[in-house]
Amino acid sequence: MTHSTGTLYIISAPSGAGKTSLVKALIDAQPQIRVSVSHTTRAMRPGEVDGVNYHFVDRAEFTRMVEHDDFLEQAEVFGNLYGTSKSHLQQTLDEGHDLILEIDWQGAQQVRKQMPGARSIFILPPTQQALRQRLTNRGQDSDEIIEARMREAVSEMSHYTEYDSVVINDDFAHALEDLKAIFRANRLAQQHQQEKYAQLFKELLA
Ligand code: 5GP
Repeated sequence: MTHSTGTLYIISAPSGAGKTSLVKALIDAQPQIRVSVSHTTRAMRPGEVDGVNYHFVDRAEFTRMVEHDDFLEQAEVFGNLYGTSKSHLQQTLDEGHDLILEIDWQGAQQVRKQMPGARSIFILPPTQQALRQRLTNRGQDSDEIIEARMREAVSEMSHYTEYDSVVINDDFAHALEDLKAIFRANRLAQQHQQEKYAQLFKELLA
């Protein structure tokens, strides 16, 4: 048995849909899956760690990286710049690891163009009310910011039709199972199985 090349996954969701918690639970269950750490110019939130949640950089550093063509994709979201650095990305996939990009719809469009093999997943909240509740419960943002984030969320959600799969995060455990099923089904795709079980297929057809 040889290992096959990993798959690049794009996961998008409006802020407050539970994307980060779902991805964390997925990685805890399947540590062979990797998550790309983006660069951002946004200020660090309480509890966030530089190099873990994001690489926090200033605008000058971000602009320098753009000029050096360091990003696979980059976008401005909610007044801040975000980007996926190219370094390690291909190497991680070549090592056989699936790699998740947690990025917005603008970045997703750029990645699809450059890496047509990427699979994309959109995570939706069960209702607008639930989304508002989750944004409020975080307690990290003012009312004004929450209203602005709700408007951003609706605009982000309007792009769900561009994605291969949609997961609705009503019940967390159920949404996690849905997410795991998408990864599992993709690993069973004929092309992947052929790479992984080349020897077996040769023997079966001898
Ligand atoms: P937050 O600041 O709440 O962590 O993320 C805000 C938005 O930026 C989310 O929609 C998130 O998916 C998106 N985002 C995070 N990293 C990247 C990135 O590297 N590229 C793009 N295009 N969007 C990103």
